[in-house]
Amino acid sequence: MIPLVKPFLPHRDLLIPRLEQIIYSGYIAEGQAVAEFEQKLSELIGNPYCLTMNSGTAALHIALLLIGVKSGDEVISTALTAEPTNTTIVLTGANVVFADVDLATGLIAPESIENCITGKTKAIMVVHYGGMVCNMHRINAISKKYNIPVIEDAAHAFMSSFNGQYIGNNSPYTCFSFQAIKHLTTVVGGLLCLKNEDDYTRAKKLRWFGLDKNVARLKSDITEAGYKYHMNNVNATVGLVQLECIKENVLRYIQNGLFYDKQLKNVHGVILLPYYEGTEPSYWLYTMKVERREDFIKKLEDNGVAASPLHLRNDRHSVFKAPQGMTPNLDQFYEEFVHIPCGWWVTEYERQQIVDLIKSGW
Ligand SMILES: *Cc1c(COP(=O)(O)O)cnc(C)c1O
Repeated sequence: MIPLVKPFLPHRDLLIPRLEQIIYSGYIAEGQAVAEFEQKLSELIGNPYCLTMNSGTAALHIALLLIGVKSGDEVISTALTAEPTNTTIVLTGANVVFADVDLATGLIAPESIENCITGKTKAIMVVHYGGMVCNMHRINAISKKYNIPVIEDAAHAFMSSFNGQYIGNNSPYTCFSFQAIKHLTTVVGGLLCLKNEDDYTRAKKLRWFGLDKNVARLKSDITEAGYKYHMNNVNATVGLVQLECIKENVLRYIQNGLFYDKQLKNVHGVILLPYYEGTEPSYWLYTMKVERREDFIKKLEDNGVAASPLHLRNDRHSVFKAPQGMTPNLDQFYEEFVHIPCGWWVTEYERQQIVDLIKSGW
């Protein structure tokens, strides 16, 4: 079966000597390798304020804490995402308010965001689902108009672009995941991209108990309690080796995605998703809408190709206490959308097979 997701690990000749060296170096906690990984990520993304974390979830949690989201507040978000986007909001004590999606893309709809804003709204959480970038022109304008900060959950959107820059430069808070199946994996890990020095300095303390790495431990003074969220040298070393292959790898997602965009256009029963102006996806998943989805999935699976949705819509989890029937576009999109394999492991031969299979009908 050609899978929808698959971890990429560099060849053992590249990875194992570097791992062996760091594991027996005597320094496996957060040190030089982490600093170097952050430096290289900053150069790649084009943002000097990049902080690694031990997960994407930790990055989301810290972003919410930096904004000061707390009990009784509201955070506007989307239900079409992986759970940590929204469980981290619950961890702060705030309520998740699910906005509807754009029926054409499945991404959070700006007009619905605006309708959800109340006096209690503290943040707007957007998710570049499958690597497709949200309608950031409109969302930025809403953020500015109401003075409410945006958090971008970019776990699927490493090296996606908005306005000619990689994601990680646009909003005050952007969160990436380096979990097993993301574009770049450090086994576990995450990244928080910030836009100013104050947030950067505070987040750096929050990820390590509240301590300042630049102050001697016996002279330190914690003023705000933090977490155990920092990355270590071992995961960072995996990341450093991954960075040597990342451009080539992401390009394979993008080339496969562009191939499907071209080949599946005007195929009967398939509706492709449009991309917002100024955005370029990195195609972590290839998402489209199909008629008679169950039959489509069965046809592909019978022929050795995985096809399905990936995440349960989050408003189905009782922890979010979401009212039903408030998101008619999501209700419809959720019945029609499907992902097909698009990542680095899908060969030119296989993607052609997948296209032929779809064109033959279901
Ligand atoms: C993977 C993922 C996360 C969380 O990342 P972890 O590194 O697993 O904590 C957050 N949001 C989305 C949309 C994800 O897919």
